[in-house]
Amino acid sequence: MPSTDDTQYYSGNPLDRAQIERRDPALLTALLAAAETRVTLFQGDRPLLAFNETGTSGKIGWLTLSDARVQHIDHCAFYLLGKTAEGHARFVCDIHRDGEDFDTEADLFSDVGKFIDLRSVGLQGLVSNPDLSILAQGKSMTSWHRSHQFCSTCGRPSVSVDGGIRRHCPHCHTNHFPRTDPVVIMLIFHGDECLLGRGANYNQGQYSTLAGFVDQGETIEEAVRREIKEETRIDVGAVTYHASQPWPFPSTLMIGCHGEALSYDIHIDDHEIEHARWFSRNEVRSMFDNTHRDGLIVPHKYAIAHHLIRHFVEED
Ligand SMILES: [Zn+2]
Repeated sequence: MPSTDDTQYYSGNPLDRAQIERRDPALLTALLAAAETRVTLFQGDRPLLAFNETGTSGKIGWLTLSDARVQHIDHCAFYLLGKTAEGHARFVCDIHRDGEDFDTEADLFSDVGKFIDLRSVGLQGLVSNPDLSILAQGKSMTSWHRSHQFCSTCGRPSVSVDGGIRRHCPHCHTNHFPRTDPVVIMLIFHGDECLLGRGANYNQGQYSTLAGFVDQGETIEEAVRREIKEETRIDVGAVTYHASQPWPFPSTLMIGCHGEALSYDIHIDDHEIEHARWFSRNEVRSMFDNTHRDGLIVPHKYAIAHHLIRHFVEED
């Protein structure tokens, strides 16, 4: 039985990414000048949230461009996120500057809201899913621009073009495109059991699916088999795709799979993981219910691992 709660956090972005407007300088300028245009701000990795009166529920803090600019950020690049269903442009801007005090910067926008770490925004459910997905796009976009200010071919400064989905080097004319790093994350099963492991930095008692970056020149299926072999020495046969999740820390695509084990004996690589073992469906159910005899738990539904594991226990 498929899960009824399969929405991945950070997915489902409602904005039209405005591919035509962003490539036309005149249309892009018109969007920047439009009265209904708004910009949201990041301070480094932290988005600006506006809260209700009790502070229990938030939404993206949207400002007019003039409000954003008069509060000191006219030197910043505004990157186009896209357009709303009504055709109103939405931009993002990172206000943080190296050497500047975080509290001083945050005070400039204290009448709008607060800057809060994006992981906490997701885990605490501070905004709606559509807002969270827009923040994921903004986070990955601003992170990429911050770390790619210089051309990797000639070392000179590059500039943002096409509303921020490309950087161009005026010196050697190289184009640079935003990177998204693919990661495979897989629920490996053997009959009625699934393979879960934990890293040294996990929350106490938490076990999860194993994961790893896709290497260059490798398929998703090959990456699943290689990672599991490296970490546990288990052989994996058939691999099936389940779902994916944007993971904006800084810009990863989590590719969720199920894989069928061809062997059973586990020999972990303790450089990669702290522990791994087989769990029966019943044992995993008790981890979801927080009734496990040793207090073991599964990841929060904010992570795709939660959905991969839930799908396994529900398909029985
Ligand atoms: Zn260059």
